[in-house]
Amino acid sequence: MRDETKCLHSGYTPENGGPGVMPIVQSTTYRFDSTEHIGDLFNKPTEYMYSRFANPTVDAVEKKIADLEGGVGAMCTSSGQAASLLSVLNLCSAGDSLVSTGTIYGGTVNLFAVTLKKLGIECIFVDADDTPENISNAFKPNTKAFFCETVANPALDVCDISKLAEIAHAHKVPLIVDNTFATPILCKPFDFGADIVVHSTSKYMDGHALQCGGVIVDSGKFDWCNGNYPEFTEPDESYHGIVYTEEFGNQAYIVKARMQLMRDFGCYPAAHSAFLLNLGLETLAVRMERYCENGQKVAEYFEASDKIESVHYAGLKSDKFYDLCQKYLGGKASGVVSIVIKGGKQAAIKFMDGLKLASNEVHVADIRTCVLHPASATHRQLTDEQLVAAGVNPGMIRFSVGLENIEDIIEDIEQSLSKI
Ligand SMILES: *Cc1c(COP(=O)(O)O)cnc(C)c1O
Repeated sequence: MRDETKCLHSGYTPENGGPGVMPIVQSTTYRFDSTEHIGDLFNKPTEYMYSRFANPTVDAVEKKIADLEGGVGAMCTSSGQAASLLSVLNLCSAGDSLVSTGTIYGGTVNLFAVTLKKLGIECIFVDADDTPENISNAFKPNTKAFFCETVANPALDVCDISKLAEIAHAHKVPLIVDNTFATPILCKPFDFGADIVVHSTSKYMDGHALQCGGVIVDSGKFDWCNGNYPEFTEPDESYHGIVYTEEFGNQAYIVKARMQLMRDFGCYPAAHSAFLLNLGLETLAVRMERYCENGQKVAEYFEASDKIESVHYAGLKSDKFYDLCQKYLGGKASGVVSIVIKGGKQAAIKFMDGLKLASNEVHVADIRTCVLHPASATHRQLTDEQLVAAGVNPGMIRFSVGLENIEDIIEDIEQSLSKI
């Protein structure tokens, strides 16, 4: 199946006479006929046991996303932040380190630099555009993961995934890619050597601003037996001695994430949330086409305006990341455009407050056009130094183009710019 078809048909196949739409299984628990049957499930979780870590509705969505990304398994989480956190905790313990590119989502910067540090895990940030030699210098014997973002939120830098995957593999660690802005419709990081993909499904995947969610997808390709990951190859005493690589083969990573981390942290989405996410996924491929089309037109409009100091959108020929956008995103740069207005922060705020159709909100990649000033909102917690590393200019506006008629979107921009 191609992507459009997978969006509609992967994950759930109705039985003869069964519901045509994936049902919401609103139950925390599952009934079994014998103690022995339940006991067996604690040896190998082949059926649903408890909805803190598995549920049939969520499972159908997990299968759909795994299929879209080309992975062997996926696990949904109650937010994108939870997905990023668990993707790393599945590899790193106190005393370990990870390497991350600097141009990633502000919440992830904070998670890695502040919260993981409190847990004894060190994050070393690198410049994704640096030479492989310089990036390699950040890796230490205790480094267990390399993290990057396909299209950075909000800097919109496009990542050279193949280059970073090669560096990660030379150090025997997996590359984790946050593929939120690209979605598997624009980019499938596993095709370029990535090993793990994470998403905030709160963005394009859900698409309608209905519920927060996240997902971790396993490519099934990384060699956990390379000597660097004893937690995968030695008995897990917290699971009566299971050896993940022996018991679960190429699904070792995603099963371990569920059996150790989801079991203990319990940040699993509700069935109803998964049902809503599925509605978003059903139209994802069709929506992405239009987001990109509208995004391109808005970026071109901004580029031609004399009120704008700079536009950052990888679909523009003038953009630093145009070539990487062709290679990794098929030339389609999503619906998110970053601009810096002439006149700095004050002009930025005036422009945003003057918009009538586009709404001021803490969201992005929504079906409706929305705007945000990262330096005073999502990235407020970052120091000036971290802002620069994350590619955030204090006057930058993140303009998230929705699915309204493009002429209405541009007229709104025009009327607000005219007041500056
Ligand atoms: C929003 C976002 C996150 C965090 O996701 P939540 O669902 O808000 O927790 C992570 N990465 C990227 C790229 C994001 O845009």
